[in-house]
Amino acid sequence: MSYFINFDKIAYLEGKKPQGCILCLVRDNSEKTVNLKVYETKFFTVAANLYPYNPGHLIIFPNRHVTDIRSLSHDESCRLCETQKICLDILERVYKPHGYNIGYNMGRIAGASIEHLHLHIIPRYPGEAGIVDLIAGQKVLVENPVQTCEKLKEEFSRLPQVSEVEQ
Ligand SMILES: [Zn+2]
Repeated sequence: MSYFINFDKIAYLEGKKPQGCILCLVRDNSEKTVNLKVYETKFFTVAANLYPYNPGHLIIFPNRHVTDIRSLSHDESCRLCETQKICLDILERVYKPHGYNIGYNMGRIAGASIEHLHLHIIPRYPGEAGIVDLIAGQKVLVENPVQTCEKLKEEFSRLPQVSEVEQ
């Protein structure tokens, strides 16, 4: 399944906004996609994963359309780390998981179905399948991601918003 509707590499290279990238659409609050955005900063957007492996499955992605972690600036890397910590604190409060898998799938062969770089934060709970089984989809969806989004959005809304912290 391709998430790229009409990805124009030339336009992208010329600095124009990619038209078909689902994460760029989420970032821009486009009506063309299900918007599961829960939080945003100047550099990053946090969204509930549309196809979660577990309840509370989040993705963090840079607002810039980059496809490789090495494209992040030093500043962006620091902000990403801060954003991760915020996500973990909030997941802890809402879902009380016992652990996490945190990581990237870079490249289609590694399972990345969306080229726009995104960091998965997958809460883990006692007595469930291993990560390989989760990624292979051998698990029943136990929470609608729209519900995940609503629950987490409320918690994130208590944080300082972008205009207050990152001018
Ligand atoms: Zn993108």
